[in-house]
Amino acid sequence: MTSTILQVKNLSVTFKGDNGDLEAVNNLSFNMDEQEFVCVLGPSGSGKSTLLRVLAGLVQPGEGEVNISPGSDRKPVVGLVFQQANLMPWRTVIENVTLPLELLGVEEEKRNARAREWIDLIGLQGFEKSLPHDLSGGMAQRVALARAFVQDPDLLLLDEPFGALDALTRERMGDELLRLWQVRRKTILMVTHSISEALLLSDRVLVFTPRPGRLALELPVPFERPRSSGVRFTPEFGSLSQRLRESIGLAG
Ligand code: ADP
Ligand code: MG
Repeated sequence: MTSTILQVKNLSVTFKGDNGDLEAVNNLSFNMDEQEFVCVLGPSGSGKSTLLRVLAGLVQPGEGEVNISPGSDRKPVVGLVFQQANLMPWRTVIENVTLPLELLGVEEEKRNARAREWIDLIGLQGFEKSLPHDLSGGMAQRVALARAFVQDPDLLLLDEPFGALDALTRERMGDELLRLWQVRRKTILMVTHSISEALLLSDRVLVFTPRPGRLALELPVPFERPRSSGVRFTPEFGSLSQRLRESIGLAG
């Protein structure tokens, strides 16, 4: 049985500025089921990051309501990964991955074991003792993903996590995330600019309108699980890409 892990109801967010108010998100409503993978696409400035920041508790919702793990009485764990890995430069790979567990008060032996497991899963075995400045951009982003996954979040928020990587690394990271999600299903809400990343990874794509962000389209992604990256080359993938391009206003 699936249960609802996220409820967003009539969410509006307005930033107050010297030159008047700026509405970033307008009357947005959607839900997410446990273990669902949802991608958000939309033009720049359409409130995608603002939505994630509200869900992470970094920005107050102006109007409306946000519930994470409704029905659970413990505080939900929300993981967040940005375009920049934001690793602590003086901590090794494994020390970066164990950080959230340290903050949660998990004992040392346990947190090292869990971190190692994720370092292996994400393909960084052998780099446990490396420092961030010795890592490529793709590797640093792997560490950031491991650090987010290791705390077993109820909801994992990814804000253009591969946006700063070159095209080939980006594609490889997409495949990697697909594989990870298929072995360790988490509830993931991911903002991306890449239509093919959204179609490869998600169960559902939400398209935002230009600012203020509202839902322009909600598209279920029909490809069976487990998926392989070869799904990119099917005609159905092509026609759904086209549909998404049109709804974002990119189609010619
Ligand atoms: P996206 O991630 O879709 O590109 P954002 O959510 O970052 O868009 O921003 C939506 C709009 O809100 C933009 O016009 C942005 O300038 C504005 N905005 C975002 N954060 C703030 C803030 N803290 N203060 C004022 N305006 C903001
Ligand atoms: Mg953004």
